[in-house]
Amino acid sequence: MERTDSRKIFKAGEVILKQGDPGDCAYIIEEGKVEIRFTDAEGRDRLLGTRGANAMIGEMAIIDNAPRTATIVALEDCKLLEISKRDFSRRLENADSVLRMATQVILTRYRDTLTRAEIWGERYQWPPAEMVELSYVENAEAVQTITIANEFRDALLSKYVQLYYQPIISLTDGTIVGFEALMRWNHPKKGFISPAIFIPVAEESGLIIEASKWALREACMALKRIEEVVKPRKKRLYMSVNFSSADFSSDDFVNNVYNTISESDVVPEQIHLEITERVLIQQPDRAKDTLRMCRKAGMSIAIDDFGTGYSSLSYLHYFPIDTLKIDQTFVRDMHKNEHSLALVNSILTLGKNMHMTTVAEGVEVKEEAYKLREMGCDLAQGYLFAKPMSEEDLKAFLAHWTPFKF
Ligand code: C2E
Ligand code: CA
Ligand code: CA
Repeated sequence: MERTDSRKIFKAGEVILKQGDPGDCAYIIEEGKVEIRFTDAEGRDRLLGTRGANAMIGEMAIIDNAPRTATIVALEDCKLLEISKRDFSRRLENADSVLRMATQVILTRYRDTLTRAEIWGERYQWPPAEMVELSYVENAEAVQTITIANEFRDALLSKYVQLYYQPIISLTDGTIVGFEALMRWNHPKKGFISPAIFIPVAEESGLIIEASKWALREACMALKRIEEVVKPRKKRLYMSVNFSSADFSSDDFVNNVYNTISESDVVPEQIHLEITERVLIQQPDRAKDTLRMCRKAGMSIAIDDFGTGYSSLSYLHYFPIDTLKIDQTFVRDMHKNEHSLALVNSILTLGKNMHMTTVAEGVEVKEEAYKLREMGCDLAQGYLFAKPMSEEDLKAFLAHWTPFKF
């Protein structure tokens, strides 16, 4: 056997792996053909099959370190790509918990079936104790994820998922310019579940696409109803709706968004799409095209939690962006941490130079609002002005609202 980088080369006739030997890697056959042989309890040699290019062999070693269950011999000169148990474990750790559980269960059953077929007879104990322990921990997380995903899917169809709306205030004149729609799940038994818990699950399971469609429709219709209770104003109120990466993967995203907006009779200029830097980094070309189309249709694009991503600033030129939302962690620390203050200042300068609107998130005290206003921030959102609230509460709030006095 010869080794080049992660490849191993076996000559025709060479044994690649031997039944009973310890194993900690699997192989993908890049070139060549192999045969799989097995010696049963009575010592009879049996041919189990042959495998060619692109097949995986020795795969069971990557779930445990139990001995090889068969012997594999090269029938031709073979080029094999090695997948170590460590590499496989790392990939599994990065996969979502349900995929992890399914992979583990399928591989375990597969091994189990072979065990029952008496390939191993009584010689080896299965499963090894460490594997049982590992499965338990992994599965607990998967069970929780599945439970949340299933319950969230049902809740979406019921009244248990709602949108709350948080006013966004002009730091120039203290008036309300728009709202951010934030999802709320009021579970009949568990009470309010934080979006920080259910949004990631919805994203992992793909349910977020349905949830976002629902949220956009609901937010547009609510905006229409809210507009009816506020006095006529020079500039129309807007609604900012959050979207995730998965929403951008769907081919009909722009069409769906456009149709929903048209059906609800708000104008596209009243709708702002909030996305994080992550969306832009993960699929830059797709995001660019999608955002351009949305912008062309009249909508605005806001970058949420700006400053917390790991992107370089150069990408700002690449995408059509209207608004930067400064993450609340910087706003919160501004008065006690000069680095946060410098960062907020830099974002505001950047926004101004690039003709973007700036919004400060999580403004809780007057001093923060004054400071932000002084530094040239355009808009602000936070408990100082109003918490996110239901449509009913918002309408009551708006009936008594007077512009914030600086
Ligand atoms: P986000 O988009 O950054 O939303 C702002 C969060 O800050 C909201 O938390 C809001 O309630 C909270 N907040 C607003 N003002 C203040 C303040 O003055 N102080 C403090 N401490 N917090 C303030 P919420 O509603 O719990 O949402 C958490 C995150 O969940 C959101 O962060 C967003 O990333 C996600 N999320 C919520 N609704 C949706 C949705 O409909 N779709 C998607 N994709 N994500 C959503
Ligand atoms: Ca947001
Ligand atoms: Ca945010």
